[in-house]
Amino acid sequence: MKRSGQIKSRQEHQQKRIKIEHTVIHGVPVAIHRKKIKHIYLRISRNGDEVQVSAPLAVQQSYIAACIAKRKEWIEKSFEKVRFRRSSAVPVIEEGAEILLWGKPYTLLIREDTGSSSVQIDHDAVILSFRRQADSELRTKALVSWYRDRIAERIPDLAAKWEPIMGINVNEWRTRRMKTRWGSCSYKSKRIWLNLDLARHPVELLEYIVVHEMVHILEPSHNARFYALMGKYFPDWQKYRKELKQLSPASWHSAAQ
Ligand SMILES: [Zn+2]
Repeated sequence: MKRSGQIKSRQEHQQKRIKIEHTVIHGVPVAIHRKKIKHIYLRISRNGDEVQVSAPLAVQQSYIAACIAKRKEWIEKSFEKVRFRRSSAVPVIEEGAEILLWGKPYTLLIREDTGSSSVQIDHDAVILSFRRQADSELRTKALVSWYRDRIAERIPDLAAKWEPIMGINVNEWRTRRMKTRWGSCSYKSKRIWLNLDLARHPVELLEYIVVHEMVHILEPSHNARFYALMGKYFPDWQKYRKELKQLSPASWHSAAQ
């Protein structure tokens, strides 16, 4: 008897713990979780699609609504941050998946046994076509090389714009997958490497990285002179640096070089 009584109370406790009310307050999706606590706590869900509120049992809904209204700006910024981060995780390369190009989402369509292999944009879709069946490795390779080409086609204009402004020539532009950096520069050989993942984000971020790496040809270290040059050539650089800090390059399949 005692045993079962203990089990029952544990179950009741668990039921109480998972009692969550989902609602929308001031246009914000909210999950309210009432607990024996003294203060209200707001948290952003892992998906960036909901505010999780822990509230004392007796608190009025109108008080919770006032808290949401007061912190709405923070909530919206946090939603955006989480969504940005998530967009940088391992890309799913399956039919219907979201594919980003220059910050714009496309739906991925996969066509097999088409007689030729290609990657094409058709309205809001990116169509990956393969001669025969394509496993995830082949799909990743096709997409990675497509992203590489998208960066490569932007480079001539960016170089033509910035080289005369800075009075330098870049010897070689290359694109590669990098796990932790958006770009790098070998200033002696005047060679610049760009993370191919930049193709997934707004094109201004690519331009910011291009300018940053080009400034390294003038000044290899991140010192006062470097930042003064950045300020001179690209006054908004801090805004873009902040945006990029919220992102991390996608973890592409290891087979795709
Ligand atoms: Zn740098």
